[in-house]
Amino acid sequence: MKDTIYVGGRWVRPAGKGVREVENPTTEEIISAVPAADEEDVDRAVRAAQAALGPWSRLSPADRAGYLERLWQRLDQRRDDIARTVTSELGTPLPVSVNIQAGLPLTVLRSYIDLAQTFQFTEQVGNSLVVKEPIGVVAAITPWNYPLHQIMAKVAPALLAGSTVVLKPADLTPLVAYLLAEAVHEAGFPAGVFNMVSGAGSVIGAALATHPGVDMVSFTGSTEVGKQISILSADTIKKVSLELGGKSANVILDDADLAAAVKVGVGNAMLNAGQTCTAWTRMLVAQNQYEQALELAAAAAGKYRAGDPMVAGTRLGPLASARQKASVLEHIRTGLSQGARLVAGEEAVPDRGHFVPATVLADVKPDDVVAQEEIFGPVLVVIPYADEDDAVAIANNSRYGLAGAVWSGDPERALAVARRMQTGAIDINGGAFNPLAPFGGYKQSGIGRELGHYGLEEFLQTKSIQR
Ligand code: NAP
Ligand code: MG
Repeated sequence: MKDTIYVGGRWVRPAGKGVREVENPTTEEIISAVPAADEEDVDRAVRAAQAALGPWSRLSPADRAGYLERLWQRLDQRRDDIARTVTSELGTPLPVSVNIQAGLPLTVLRSYIDLAQTFQFTEQVGNSLVVKEPIGVVAAITPWNYPLHQIMAKVAPALLAGSTVVLKPADLTPLVAYLLAEAVHEAGFPAGVFNMVSGAGSVIGAALATHPGVDMVSFTGSTEVGKQISILSADTIKKVSLELGGKSANVILDDADLAAAVKVGVGNAMLNAGQTCTAWTRMLVAQNQYEQALELAAAAAGKYRAGDPMVAGTRLGPLASARQKASVLEHIRTGLSQGARLVAGEEAVPDRGHFVPATVLADVKPDDVVAQEEIFGPVLVVIPYADEDDAVAIANNSRYGLAGAVWSGDPERALAVARRMQTGAIDINGGAFNPLAPFGGYKQSGIGRELGHYGLEEFLQTKSIQR
């Protein structure tokens, strides 16, 4: 049970009187609770962040990186604790939690510590000295699917930039955020540089987006809430960066290694029970390879047997909440009612826990609901295409544009198709994740970029001094 929030370098009892229970989605047991803070708490946190801004921004980037290094050390000691915490509150299989839920945020934090040594905070342009200064007080509002990573992708660059932060973590996964705040405290950051306020998004998120003391809102979550944040932030002309949903296409060209492309593609779609914003949820296959691809996809999906995410060998955990499960099942029903064919998804799942079997839907048309809407569950749709132009057109037939993939035996052909896709990131033939590459969306998948120096620049503003 947590009964405090982290404001001004101290754990304080919030003014808000409510509590938010935290459920283990595997056991459906309540495992903890956190305070539901209110607008008054947000105001205190923003004031603390404002007060800390001047001194923090005047430290050298190397000094700020020194604090981040101490934070890295503390989080590194807690990798196991982080992984188990996320598996308990979210349901990610433990090995994936170790590698991604705990490992990735540490990688990202390390990348910003390193960047402090090379990033140019000033630039000479003709007779102008261009100075990159912190944007100010940053409100970070984050979701639950990769909870510590999504926090770190904002907090590390914001703090390195010299900005200060008020974090509002997701309601479903606050415990890992508390773990982070404890590590921040132990690392000895100056009071007010990092603050954390838990509670309902509709209350805390809205209070942050409208607060005149907040200079920027960095949001990751759904497109619907992202729109709300933009609207709420407009009144005070805050900078807004949005990392939103996706419906990414995995384009398998007819000269690809089909078996590898389908296997990796299914794995990508099922990772974290499909609760991944970049998931390749639309697999596009040449008409003459379609039935073969479906067989391969069904076989690959069959290996994602649902079970306890703490138990070795489990590859498919539960969905994060009962609501999420209901929404995913509703999408599957809609798909079937629009004529989709179920080629995987009848495996039994545990009675207790918010489980949905790994599901593959065939004969999906590009405009069907299940091909257009983000399902955010272990559901892959497979769509046939006539030729390469058709494949590109189907891939781009989406309001989203976050990620994607191209598979081909010809690297030049793959690159040409990748260039035609309207999306923020594309992996060719399973190209490895690069934590320094910019991450973010085209179209309604977002505004702005995270990670690497692109992510750092989001938390800076530029001043031109002419001499
Ligand atoms: P969400 O409902 O949009 O919530 C995201 C965050 O916003 C949470 O902290 C939430 O608080 C808060 N929030 C909710 N309503 C708000 C409001 N009216 N004003 C301000 N803040 C508010 O998203 P989610 O359900 O947590 O996550 C699933 C969605 O996020 C999916 O659509 C997924 O694609 C997207 N997502 C995108 C990315 C990306 O990088 N592009 C990454 C992960 C997830 P509460 O938790 O208290 O409701
Ligand atoms: Mg929500």
